[in-house]
Amino acid sequence: MIAKLVDAVFGCRHSRYSFPVTVRGAGRRPQAAMLTGTYVACLDCGREFPYDWHEMKVIESQSERREYIASLATKEAA
Ligand SMILES: [Zn+2]
Repeated sequence: MIAKLVDAVFGCRHSRYSFPVTVRGAGRRPQAAMLTGTYVACLDCGREFPYDWHEMKVIESQSERREYIASLATKEAA
């Protein structure tokens, strides 16, 4: 209750995540899994984020998203 209020005022810092979930097949595919095929959910606010298994990190921001796409392009070129 208080945590929800804090989130609303200051924004959630997304400090706790669920275990990463890898989505396979053509079933329900959350927006967050479109990028990497794997996503995590914030345990505090419930938002979903793409997860990069290779770097073992959550992709939260647009710049991290661009970095991820750039790293894929580099691997494909090599
Ligand atoms: Zn959060």
